[in-house]
Amino acid sequence: MAFAELWRELEPLGRDPASGGYRRYSWTAADAECRAWFSRAAEQLDLTVEPDNNGNLWAWWDQRRTDAIVTGSHLDSVPDGGAYDGPLGVVSALAAVEELKVKGFSPERALAIAVFTEEEGARFRVPCLGSRLMTGAIDPETARALSDDDGDTLAVAMTAAGGDAGLLGPREDLLDSIGAFVELHVEQGRALAPMGAALGLAEGIWPHGRWRLDFQGRADHAGTARLADRKDPMLPYARTVLAARHAAACHGALATFGKVIAEPGGANGVPSAVRAWLDARAPDEATLETTVTSVRSASERFCAEHGVALSVRRESYTPVVRFDQGLRDRIAGVLAAAGIKAPVLPTGAGHDAGVLAARVPTAMLFVRNPTGVSHSPAEHADLADCEAGVRALALVLENLAGPVRR
Ligand SMILES: [Zn+2]
Repeated sequence: MAFAELWRELEPLGRDPASGGYRRYSWTAADAECRAWFSRAAEQLDLTVEPDNNGNLWAWWDQRRTDAIVTGSHLDSVPDGGAYDGPLGVVSALAAVEELKVKGFSPERALAIAVFTEEEGARFRVPCLGSRLMTGAIDPETARALSDDDGDTLAVAMTAAGGDAGLLGPREDLLDSIGAFVELHVEQGRALAPMGAALGLAEGIWPHGRWRLDFQGRADHAGTARLADRKDPMLPYARTVLAARHAAACHGALATFGKVIAEPGGANGVPSAVRAWLDARAPDEATLETTVTSVRSASERFCAEHGVALSVRRESYTPVVRFDQGLRDRIAGVLAAAGIKAPVLPTGAGHDAGVLAARVPTAMLFVRNPTGVSHSPAEHADLADCEAGVRALALVLENLAGPVRR
């Protein structure tokens, strides 16, 4: 089955008819449909699908499990996410393996496709949860207790979906069996289009993290409480949003409040509390720290002025990632030999490849995103570029997994 056909099968799963965006949250019905689709598609290619203890799926070419060349990505989405972030890497991996099988390629090394769970952290708020669990970057006890917006823990959600959260934890053996990981991903941002390149190679990932800010005020009547008497947490929150934008602009960083909850949420009342999440990213860790510190101290000042208590908690953090230079050079060589232009780009987006990079040689291939929009239903990549990505990935896998041909 070619790329377009695989894409058509996956496309309707977990899509919200009203927004056109995807709601493929981990351990939900939509997630189960995506997993079932992947398993079927992989089995049609004669791959052996093996779920691991952390909810990630592995599809192996044959019985070998050492020094493997692994490719893949994720199938979960952010709220109302686009079609390409994650699925493009999974569908391209299947299509590339098919291309290799059709041409009679017989790998010298083990080869596998991986699908990582909860990459976006949309449900349990820790991005790259599946790869973090595997590498031990988060301990299983902490992971089991993570809760979603309904108060359901990961342990409960996993069990309800037929998994066993008791088995969560690091997999040294699986990590040791990976020789290299190559993740193909839709470009997030717009660097390739002006360069006239359909594909790019990742240089590294900016350090980034999420901070939860709790503004605790006092609920009151919108019609009777005098302005001077209020302890309105919305006011320091609003000023903090502007301060974050200012700090990011000053430091050459990025800062975003994309999620906010006002409690109790009455339209005719002063809220008792505002909970908000700051996502911050920067080219280096010192800049990231400076940016977050300045947002935090501005917020403390605003809270003091409004009689509101502030607490800040870091929910996740990913240090700077530099992908393996040797692997990148080798991939660049393979692509150049095939006449494929693939400029090297940094990125502000986190990926499972970034988490795995701490343990195994890792590289990323980007496919041009003509508008640069991502984490939105408007996210797009042209079919011709996706197919170019499949061809490039197949060449890379063929080179990395060995020269033997039937
Ligand atoms: Zn992604």
